[in-house]
Amino acid sequence: MRSLRDLYVEELKDLYSAENQLVKALPRMAKAASAPELKAAFTEHLEVTRGQVARLEKIFEELGVSPKGKKCKAMEGLIEEGKELLEEDASPAVLDAGLIVAAQKVEHYEMAGYGSVRTFAEMLGFSKAAGLLQQTLDEETQTDEKLTELAKTVINPEAEEPEPESKKAAPKKPAAPKKAAGKTKA
Ligand code: FE
Ligand code: FE
Ligand code: FE
Repeated sequence: MRSLRDLYVEELKDLYSAENQLVKALPRMAKAASAPELKAAFTEHLEVTRGQVARLEKIFEELGVSPKGKKCKAMEGLIEEGKELLEEDASPAVLDAGLIVAAQKVEHYEMAGYGSVRTFAEMLGFSKAAGLLQQTLDEETQTDEKLTELAKTVINPEAEEPEPESKKAAPKKPAAPKKAAGKTKA
């Protein structure tokens, strides 16, 4: 990597990998969400993300470079943390609040990346690419804002409420007395 152009291409590849990982992760997040508003937000962002992948492919095509060959380890880690969250024994509303935290961490990572490559594209004279990258940056920013709004108005207040008794997992039945050891089956 000797030039700003080299760095530009590397960072674009990183974002390409990140977006493709998200295309796989977002359906899982939508499935895990309980609030219909949050499910809808993830499903909508999946469609937006597919468009972002297409935009990056267009930019690579014009550069005459393959978009492949890099794995975004940060996105891999963020997604891994999201998976850990899903393994927790959490109430649905609290899990939703946690999914928003995970999703906003993802959006902020993307915002940092797109802000940088957009600026590089402007400096390098790739004005068309700069415009496309700005569009994606705006989408990530809007998604982040939407998630903040959802958290404040719907999800966090629900998560703060004590869980209604009826929704709690039924208490486990006392274990059946163990059969005396050593006896053979009848
Ligand atoms: Fe994205
Ligand atoms: Fe990365
Ligand atoms: Fe995003």
